[in-house]
Amino acid sequence: MQLADRVATITPSSTLAITAKAGELAAQGYDVIGLGAGQPDFNTPDFIIDAATKALKAGHTKYTPTAGLPELKQAIIGKLKRDQGFLYDPSQIIVGNGAKHVLYLLFQALLNPGDEVLIPAPYWVSYPEQVKLAGGVPVPIKTTQDQAFKISVDDLKKTATNKTKALILNSPSNPTGMIYRREELEPVAEYCLKHGILIVSDEIYEKLIYNGNTFFSIAQISDEVKANTIVINGVSKSHAMTGWRIGYAAGDAKLIKAMTNVASHSTSNPASASQYAAIAAYNGPQESVEQMRQAFEKRLNTVYDRLIALPGIDCLKPQGAFYLFPDISKAAVSCGFSSVSDWVAALLDEEKVAVVPGAGFGAPEHIRLSYATSLEKFETALDRIEHFIRKHTK
Ligand code: PMP
Ligand code: GLU
Repeated sequence: MQLADRVATITPSSTLAITAKAGELAAQGYDVIGLGAGQPDFNTPDFIIDAATKALKAGHTKYTPTAGLPELKQAIIGKLKRDQGFLYDPSQIIVGNGAKHVLYLLFQALLNPGDEVLIPAPYWVSYPEQVKLAGGVPVPIKTTQDQAFKISVDDLKKTATNKTKALILNSPSNPTGMIYRREELEPVAEYCLKHGILIVSDEIYEKLIYNGNTFFSIAQISDEVKANTIVINGVSKSHAMTGWRIGYAAGDAKLIKAMTNVASHSTSNPASASQYAAIAAYNGPQESVEQMRQAFEKRLNTVYDRLIALPGIDCLKPQGAFYLFPDISKAAVSCGFSSVSDWVAALLDEEKVAVVPGAGFGAPEHIRLSYATSLEKFETALDRIEHFIRKHTK
């Protein structure tokens, strides 16, 4: 069978692939520690589950408007006002099946063949593939650990062309955990405004900020910048709701309408019970969000020092999200492996620890470890990694 050309150009999601592989090994009876999955290990708070159950029992089992229930849009508008002081109209909001789906709809609605999208690297694995699926051209902007993996206006000047349609910013970042400060964002926002480049601000890790760092959305700079930004967010990470599949976008009403049209011919609305759960998540008490954040912060502060003490491993301390993204190229060489990917494969094979190779994030010298797992498990994983490195070091 001859498949479509578009699928030949994309790779499967490495984050989901490693999670599936770890799951298979566990099903075969191996004691696997999965540090691949980027999802909170906590269960969704009970009051959110109760709201969904109540909605189902009350008969809310039917289609809803494609872009989401009016009550959910209002809950999202309330959240954006409470947290960032933003004012949005319901016509500027679309709810989709997770932030991933909303991003997909965005690129489908925005890009013509050949349109370029600037993507600071390291980046989340799905950005370039989604741009390609929409016929666009992903243009990575390489950043290094020395620049805290952040872009500057100079980087934009070097990479933007007259085909540049959008810039994706993800702060806090998956996979680096870095957070942009207001003064770093201002010149970037100004450049984008001047050159008509839409800013896609993926804020899915907004609530996971540690050690006194703070979150600032680029759209908070001014009304003009807000009008030139589409904000992406959702309940997956903040409320431990990855499986419910609810994310949203807030931005220009014309763009949101076009995204809604695409959704209306593909997925229709996100699951109605999940939408009721998300209403409770945004309108209900937010204590559990803070409790989970504190647990992640404690884990980060415990495991980071141990990780960087390992030979051949170099890692910037993350400020947010729940990933560590060390450069392990020295460890790979001293262990006798010709690539980081081979090191990762051997680690899984010999020690049954699953981590994600950096190649899919545009940083082949790195690996990603998620600490969205218990401290006890993470510490055992570090014991195994240490054992692995010592065993192989020549
Ligand atoms: N953006 C980033 C940076 C992510 O890491 C993820 C992964 N969860 C998403 C978007 C998508 O999240 P979801 O589809 O679960 O809302
Ligand atoms: N975003 C999470 C991650 O990076 C979940 C998996 C995915 O959707 O890529 O691990």
